[in-house]
Amino acid sequence: MNRSLFKKIPTLHDVDVNNKTCIVRLDLNVPLKDGKITDLARLLAAKRTLDHLIDSKCKIVILSHLSRVKKAEDITSGKKSLKVVADALQKLYPKMKVIFVENNRDKKLPSMVKKMKTNQIILLENTRYNDFDLKKNEVVKLESKNNPQLAKFWASLGDVYVNDAFATIHRGHASNAGIAKLKKQKCIGYLIQDELEHIIKFNKYSSKPIVSVVGGAKIADKIILLEKLMQTSDQVLIGGGMAFTFLTALGINCQKSLVEKEMLETAKNLYTKYKNKIILPIDVACATDFANQTRKEYKVNKIPANMMGLDVGSKTIKQYLKVLKPAQTIFWNGPTGVFEFSNFDSSTKAVAKAIAAAAKNTAFSLVGGGDTASAATKFAPKTDFSWVSTGGGATLAVIQGDELPGLFFKK
Ligand code: AMP
Repeated sequence: MNRSLFKKIPTLHDVDVNNKTCIVRLDLNVPLKDGKITDLARLLAAKRTLDHLIDSKCKIVILSHLSRVKKAEDITSGKKSLKVVADALQKLYPKMKVIFVENNRDKKLPSMVKKMKTNQIILLENTRYNDFDLKKNEVVKLESKNNPQLAKFWASLGDVYVNDAFATIHRGHASNAGIAKLKKQKCIGYLIQDELEHIIKFNKYSSKPIVSVVGGAKIADKIILLEKLMQTSDQVLIGGGMAFTFLTALGINCQKSLVEKEMLETAKNLYTKYKNKIILPIDVACATDFANQTRKEYKVNKIPANMMGLDVGSKTIKQYLKVLKPAQTIFWNGPTGVFEFSNFDSSTKAVAKAIAAAAKNTAFSLVGGGDTASAATKFAPKTDFSWVSTGGGATLAVIQGDELPGLFFKK
């Protein structure tokens, strides 16, 4: 992905949406707890595109997924229904009438869309309800495997296709790749545009020193990312569960800590190739179980046999801060400890605050989505970072240079 390639992607400036019916793919996959939305960030991220379409007097038909649908209960329980999002959307746009349609393949939909007014917004039920057939009681993955009939039906609902669901651009689903293939008039929305611009800035136009912080649970999920970051960064701080696989590969006994045996060789090779850039923990905060016990710190080679590392220690945190302070470009993916436990959130908190402070002082900071975005915004205001991505896997895919089946290009 580079800037010239980005010029080939049609944006809202390339397509005349005035008075058109737009099929809009958003990522309204909001986090829910006990049936309530706990973070509106994804809905708010869609606002700029929706505002533009409303100002352009469009008829808006929204498609989105919510979580994964693998069994009947995912549908019948209503726990993965977008109804709760429709209510939030209504609150966000009190002057519009939000119409929630339970059956996203209803035969009456085309005539309903034809008759709708421009002060109405239609939100269709979770696209992934089509991944499970209730009558056959089996997984069918019509959405996730890009079923052509499903894409054709959704494509028939409007004139223009607007894709603004950044978090799924690395997937080729019926609601993105499928519809896009069938529509001549199509473009990405402002969110995808912003996300790509920030990632391209990190990938191609970053000022030195470039520092990457990589944490999270496992190396296996991030090996391609790690290779890429080793090549482009001046220093890579490795924390979280994955640090223990590196330390074990170097002959340190990490006792009960998370270690991926099958990744030991890979970790060793990576360390040998890039040892001048990699910073591994020198001390760790431990507990006897994966629980929020009292934090006990040890040097990495002195972890007691009955303990596991759940955060990096205070000496390592100092080291992190020293490296982050002068950084001009920072990328962060993966919490450096189990930040969900208050006794083990110290390093993640310190990293979030240090990155936010560096970004306030001219550094460019890019925070990968998912858990990292929640961790970052738990400990520092979102506006203190240059960009907090809405997509975890999608951000990694763009940085790694993977194919992006959910994107499309100008002819
Ligand atoms: P990921 O999705 O790979 O970025 O992983 C995020 C998860 O990694 C978070 O839920 C953290 O609690 C977890 N994590 C961070 N540090 C550790 C650790 N030392 N041991 C086990 N899990 C960890």
